[in-house]
Amino acid sequence: MSQKIPVHDVTPPKKVESVDLYATRERIYTRAFTGLYRNLRRVGGAALFLLFFGTVWLNWDGRQAVWWNLPERKFYIFGATYFPQDFILLSAMLIIAAFGLFFITVFAGRVWCGYTCPQSVFTWVFMWAEKVTEGDRNQRMKLDKQPMSGNKFVRKAAKHAIWLLVSFAVAITFVGYFTPIRELVTDFFTLEVGGWALFWVGFFTLATYGNAGYLREQVCIYMCPYARFQSVMFDKDTLIVSYDPRRGERRGPRKKDADYKALGLGDCIDCTMCVQVCPTGIDIRDGLQIECIGCAACIDACDTIMDKMGYPRGLISYTTEHNLSGQKTHILRPRLIGYALALAAMIGVFGYAVATRPLVKLDVSKDRVLYRENAEGYIENVYSLKVMNKAQHPQTFVISASGLDGLEYNGRQEITAAAGELVTVTAELAAPPEKLPSSTNKIVFHVQSADDPSIEDDADSRFIGPSVR
Ligand code: SF4
Ligand code: SF4
Repeated sequence: MSQKIPVHDVTPPKKVESVDLYATRERIYTRAFTGLYRNLRRVGGAALFLLFFGTVWLNWDGRQAVWWNLPERKFYIFGATYFPQDFILLSAMLIIAAFGLFFITVFAGRVWCGYTCPQSVFTWVFMWAEKVTEGDRNQRMKLDKQPMSGNKFVRKAAKHAIWLLVSFAVAITFVGYFTPIRELVTDFFTLEVGGWALFWVGFFTLATYGNAGYLREQVCIYMCPYARFQSVMFDKDTLIVSYDPRRGERRGPRKKDADYKALGLGDCIDCTMCVQVCPTGIDIRDGLQIECIGCAACIDACDTIMDKMGYPRGLISYTTEHNLSGQKTHILRPRLIGYALALAAMIGVFGYAVATRPLVKLDVSKDRVLYRENAEGYIENVYSLKVMNKAQHPQTFVISASGLDGLEYNGRQEITAAAGELVTVTAELAAPPEKLPSSTNKIVFHVQSADDPSIEDDADSRFIGPSVR
């Protein structure tokens, strides 16, 4: 008996529906709230503000304590002066910071985002400005729906004035780490500020104003690379902000003293307070989402509701996936220990490198003329020597050269360099031609502090002579 093959229509649809990869933004009106984590964030934010706004005004040995002097390529950090040659230390510092962030993320999820990231910290400040000028969530929503009026104009203008003032303070402070802050502020208020300083202060003012005032959660969701890759660092023992559906569901409203268990309800009264306080506008009850910055605002809001209802706190809490599924959370786990060990080793090596950093640096470059013969028949080579005093005090250095029999050093062998100064000297070396083993001979320049012989540096170079037959 013959079998029929079923026929399917595979004609492509005429119209292919386009998929929008960018969701239309809905304006988020966050509700103000209080609670433990809000207070922690305020204390942390105050410490960060003090660090950022305060450090730039500190002085050290008559100059700004932290100053990235780009034109002179000198970077002052309290008692130390760093030069572009020390950028390896800066790179090491950035790698350590990255590993520190990995360690924190594996352990405590996105606490960096929620508590310390400048984007979050300044967004909270801008939200505070919104609340004091336009009122709380409902008042702001109402105000935005109203047509323009005197009251609305004054409130909006006051909000933007505070936003701009905060942005300007951030910008001038940031630029003050690159150009002396005292002169910068004076120049601004005497209208004598230079073009570049004006440009950068304006740029960072607008960047802060735009990011914290308008873009807000869009920066975290669409622009921040860290938000994208950190989820791969999470494991089932990472601390996350999570809603406990076993306890909360079935959600629903009820009277405060109702026997809600008998009604088949869980602890979530579906008040949506956790959604209303969320700066990224998500509902944590839908599970872990990439938009969640781990700020714990929803924990504070829900705990307040639990207190009002007389239920135990912690329906939304810092917990782990293992905990949520009823399993044991492992704080000490191989990945975390690995990061901790790598971090400790890197900090140790970095600390050693900084502590033993040579306080003098010698660079040698040979003159383009290969060699010349002087009146005594000696072969002469000319070099340009750069001696960099990295110490915080003036030093006298003695320069010498070795590596060839009968090598004579002509030129300044003793120099004095101020703190952080780069001194360039010319050195002429002469050697009898019969003592040259080859046409290209390795020699070593040596510089040593006359005040502290432990401060020294070497630099290799070549002594060129005629071909030896
Ligand atoms: S705040 Fe708590 S009780 Fe209210 S909706 Fe959110 S999870 Fe439910
Ligand atoms: S869900 Fe909670 S922790 Fe996550 S961003 Fe929103 S308020 Fe913050």
